[in-house]
Amino acid sequence: MSELAGARVLVTGASRGIGRAVALELARHGAKVAGLATRRANLEPVAAAVRAAGGEFLELEGDVADPKCAAACVEAVLEAWGGLDGLVANAGITRDNLLLRMSEQQFQEVIATNLGGVFHCVKAAARPMLKQRSGRMVLVGSVVALIGNPGQANYCAAKAGLHGLARSVALELGSRGITVNVVAPGYIQTEMTEDLPEAAKAALTGKTALGRPGTPEDVAGAVRFLLGPAGGYITGQILVVDGGLSLG
Ligand code: NAP
Repeated sequence: MSELAGARVLVTGASRGIGRAVALELARHGAKVAGLATRRANLEPVAAAVRAAGGEFLELEGDVADPKCAAACVEAVLEAWGGLDGLVANAGITRDNLLLRMSEQQFQEVIATNLGGVFHCVKAAARPMLKQRSGRMVLVGSVVALIGNPGQANYCAAKAGLHGLARSVALELGSRGITVNVVAPGYIQTEMTEDLPEAAKAALTGKTALGRPGTPEDVAGAVRFLLGPAGGYITGQILVVDGGLSLG
C-alpha cells in the first residue's frame, strides 16, 4: 500500500522546481495532488506526467499573494475530492537587492508572496482540516532565514516569518491532529537559482558538507516524510535540507 494512498494535497508553486518535484513525489506515493501556479498552462507538463503514471492532478491558477486565491483553491479541492489532508506552501519569489538599493516594492512583493501567501494558504487549509480533525502542513522556508544572506533582506525576513507562523499555528491546531512544519532548503538547482553568477554557485556549493548543490528531489523527499505516517508526531519544527551548508 502506498504511504500517501488517497491523501488529498494542495501544492502551491507546482509548475517547476521544488514544487514540481514535490507534486511528482507525492503522486508517486499515492496522493491526489492539486497544484497551483500563476498560469494554468505552466502546470500542463506536471499534470500530464502525474496522469500518465495513473495519478490524479488538479490544475489551479492564481496568485498566492491574493487572499482570495487560497480560499478558492481549497474550495476547488473540497469540491473535487471532498476533503484536504495536506498543504505544501511552496510558491515563492525573489527580488534581490542590497538594502540601500532595495525599493519598497521589492520588499513588499516578497513579503506579500512569500509570507502573506503562506498565511492565506495556512488559514484556508486549516478550516477543512479542523473539521476533519487531521491534516499536515509543510511550509517551504529557506536556510537563509537562519543564517542571513546579503542582498536578500526581504526574502530572509519573509522566510524567517514562516518559522514564527509555523510554531504558533502548530500550537493552535495540534489538539485537532494537525501538524505544521517548515522545510528549509539550502542551495537547490532550480530556475530560481540558475541566474546566480557562477562564482556564487561555486561558493555556495563549497560551503556544503556534501560538496554538491541540492536537487528539487532532495527537498521533495523531506516534504513527503513530513506528510507521511513517519512524520505524525513532528510539529512546529524546521527541517533543514541543505547538504550541511549552514553548518559553518
Ligand atoms: P522556482 O523554480 O522559481 O519555482 C517557483 C514556483 O512558484 C513556480 O511554480 C511558480 O509558478 C510559483 N509561483 C511564484 N509566484 C507565485 C505566485 N504569486 N502565486 C502562485 N504561484 C507562484 O523556485 P524554487 O527554487 O522551486 O523555489 C520553491 C520554493 O523553495 C520557494 O518558496 C523558494 O523560496 C524556496 N527555496 C528555494 C531554494 C533554492 O535554492 N532554489 C532555496 C531555499 C528555498 P509559475 O511561475 O509557473 O506561476
